[in-house]
Amino acid sequence: MKILVCNVGSTSLKYRLFDLGERETTLAEGKQERVGTQAGVWTHTDTGEPSAQQTLPIPDYATGISLMQNALLKRALSSMDALDCVAFKVVHAKDVTGVQLLDERVLAAMAAFNTVAPSHNPPYIAAIRQFRQALPDTPLVGSFETGFHADMPPKAYLYSIPIEISRQYAIRRYGFHGASHEYVSARVAEWMGRKDFKLISCHLGGSGSLCAVVNGKSVDTNLGFSLQCGIPHNNRCGDIDPYIPIYLMKDFGYSMEQIEIMLNKKSGLLGMSGVSNDLRDVEAAALAGNRDAENALESYCYQIKKQIGAYAAAMGGVDAVAFAGGIGENSALIRKKTLEGLGFLGISLDEAKNESARPDCELTGEGGFARIFIVATNEEIVVARKAKEFLENRA
Ligand code: ADP
Repeated sequence: MKILVCNVGSTSLKYRLFDLGERETTLAEGKQERVGTQAGVWTHTDTGEPSAQQTLPIPDYATGISLMQNALLKRALSSMDALDCVAFKVVHAKDVTGVQLLDERVLAAMAAFNTVAPSHNPPYIAAIRQFRQALPDTPLVGSFETGFHADMPPKAYLYSIPIEISRQYAIRRYGFHGASHEYVSARVAEWMGRKDFKLISCHLGGSGSLCAVVNGKSVDTNLGFSLQCGIPHNNRCGDIDPYIPIYLMKDFGYSMEQIEIMLNKKSGLLGMSGVSNDLRDVEAAALAGNRDAENALESYCYQIKKQIGAYAAAMGGVDAVAFAGGIGENSALIRKKTLEGLGFLGISLDEAKNESARPDCELTGEGGFARIFIVATNEEIVVARKAKEFLENRA
């Protein structure tokens, strides 16, 4: 079955075409950036070798989709009829989760949460509509990031606000990065040789979340109603006192728009360090003696460490900790600082191995009885497999 997985950003379109049969193969993949401009940047490969980067106008998604389509038809697909579906790692919809055919009902539920996921839902909805125009006969299937957490118990998902407000406006903890946490759980189960274990999955990327997983199921996670909470993100704020915005608005005249931009674009690692939203720049600045950058790193790792402690308490122990995402997979410093001092939980990092480690690998140090892993997460394959299962069950 040929499934094209598309990952839509506000100015980017990443795609990977899978052939899922007895074996799982990638037939082509590509990335378009600066979509919406005359200076779009595009790479595409159907040979496994990275292709040369092209700069060309990609004024809208329709152009991007048509470029992608023509490139896929050169070698990877004999015709568009050979494509079984386009699958999307969609983010958030009001009363819809799991795997869904992206029809008007589902798009309306996504649009109802545009305010809650402003960087994700509007571009996805726009792109999905354009895909529908370009490929009217191809099923479009969405796998929601919230799906993996849908069965969390009420004690984990309830907010302490009036219950009638929660019910009326669908306010609860939803959690995100479901595809990654699910992939990580399955990969760790292979290493562990069993499924009955307590795992803390740390997806640390531009946006990050931790997930407490018991016997393969999410029982708690620290992204919430929106993607604006939990640990600090690259430029989003993470957990803050909810009265900070009220104080700034009431006493100092900040507007709602200013607050939104501050929390959504100017906070997190960027806000605390004043240097960059990219961890590599913050690490370099800290090394060069920038105190704000140093404090930003310390605070980032401290929040992750506290969350690990909280989930160990919530699960009554921890058998494994896994790191994934751009930061989790690549930053030895963050892994080290995050796990420092957690020996009392049986967490001991092999520091020498950690320094040069590449995913997938194990980093459990001497005396550790909770195993530590780095997982090269693969959200696209999770989305493709779910779409395949959805189509097979529908047939
Ligand atoms: P997204 O959440 O946007 O999908 P990624 O999971 O790719 O992003 O993570 C992106 C982040 O990973 C970058 O912003 C950067 O901070 C961090 N990162 C990537 N490579 C490295 C590296 N070698 N060392 C430290 N941090 C890195």
